[in-house]
Amino acid sequence: MPDLPLIVWIAAAGVLGLLVGSFLNVVILRLPARLEAFWKQEAHDILQLGTPQETLPPGIVREGSHCPHCKHPLAARDNIPVFGWLLLRGRCRYCQAPISIQYPLIELLTGILSALVIWKFGPTWSGLVGLCLTWALVALSGIDFRTQLLPDQITLPLLWLGLLLSVAHLFVEPTSSILGAAIGYLSLWSVYWAFKLLTGKEGMGFGDFKLLAALGAWMGPGSLLPVILLSSLIGAIIGGTLIALRKHAREVPMPFGPFIAIAGWVWFIAGDTLWQAYASFTGMR
Ligand SMILES: [Zn+2]
Repeated sequence: MPDLPLIVWIAAAGVLGLLVGSFLNVVILRLPARLEAFWKQEAHDILQLGTPQETLPPGIVREGSHCPHCKHPLAARDNIPVFGWLLLRGRCRYCQAPISIQYPLIELLTGILSALVIWKFGPTWSGLVGLCLTWALVALSGIDFRTQLLPDQITLPLLWLGLLLSVAHLFVEPTSSILGAAIGYLSLWSVYWAFKLLTGKEGMGFGDFKLLAALGAWMGPGSLLPVILLSSLIGAIIGGTLIALRKHAREVPMPFGPFIAIAGWVWFIAGDTLWQAYASFTGMR
């Protein structure tokens, strides 16, 4: 790595994060639609109903961005992260339809989180893979929040990557990583079945188990309890706020994935600091 001051790396990570955030917006919007179309096709094949007539929704990489309302392709200047949206004042240049605030928010969030990762780890391998983890968690949260899905296409590679990184001794040792993955999966799996047997309802989905397994693979079994406690706390705060603001109906199930993702990210970046604060607070050291 060239010898640049850390602030330059942090700024570069922030700009990279804005650009990646722009791509994550596309993933968040298009991946669930693609998956649903593929599942439909598969179901048609299994039931021998012939091929469904509908055309597939747009691919993630191949098709350029266009206004979801009037389908007009977007100019390059409209695609500039955050500023494009601000310059257009949140409206399509061609049909004046409002453009969701999700776009600039995801871009800004990804930019800030990416800068924080490099501030924490510096321009190192840990920083680089930390960025990958961050981007995957942003995509998963966005998709789960919109569609209540945590696609295997993201959770499983994240799990494999965590296991492989332990071989390079980056964050945890292989034993920790394997135990973290297995215990992470099984802990939520058993909560799911206990809840289902007691109440007959499903409190969360299998995607949640896979996400916690992935976080366990990255950070080891010691991270699991703090992540679960943090995610419940974050869920209570965000869920309570959304219900109080009447942005979310009480009866509609709230996706749990975004809270696990947020808690996992917080523990990844600040787990050591939080642990020390907790230990000195309770006089454990
Ligand atoms: Zn338009």
